[in-house]
Amino acid sequence: MSAASDFVRTFFLTELLRGLKLTGRNLFKRKVTIQYPEERAPQSPRFRGRHALRRYPNGEERCIACKLCEAVCPALAITIESEPRDDGQRRTTRYDIDLFKCIYCGFCEESCPVDSIVETRVFEYHMEEREERVVNKQQLLAFGDEYEKQLAADRAMDAPYR
Ligand code: SF4
Ligand code: SF4
Repeated sequence: MSAASDFVRTFFLTELLRGLKLTGRNLFKRKVTIQYPEERAPQSPRFRGRHALRRYPNGEERCIACKLCEAVCPALAITIESEPRDDGQRRTTRYDIDLFKCIYCGFCEESCPVDSIVETRVFEYHMEEREERVVNKQQLLAFGDEYEKQLAADRAMDAPYR
């Protein structure tokens, strides 16, 4: 572009006017931004947030320590140890997830044959100490208990598509 046309564009403020024209065109359009956290965007029942371990309605933990979730996890974020209980059923003695390693891919949830490890809709959480990044079995079960109602409802809603 020549110096003369640069001068003309600068002198007549053509770029400024083009910018204002674009602003004017969008001024009265429906807004796509929201005022978070007062306003919330809709969430899918398949949202992949913080993990939880679920129980059956009788309180029995669902996990049967098959370790499929541990094997499928691409981030090696899950650590499981297990042993048989007194009644002969195998259960985990350790179930840890390192939330710093996790990439929230959902593979653990998809691989679980008993719908035990799941990802909740919860995405607003933080840690204050580095060690808190690893959540253990008791924390995951407690989180599952807290959100069981929503987890069950989400799965019921999503069932036809699974
Ligand atoms: S969501 Fe993906 S990365 Fe995170 S624990 Fe599950 S399988 Fe691993
Ligand atoms: S959470 Fe599911 S996939 Fe993982 S060990 Fe337990 S039963 Fe197996």
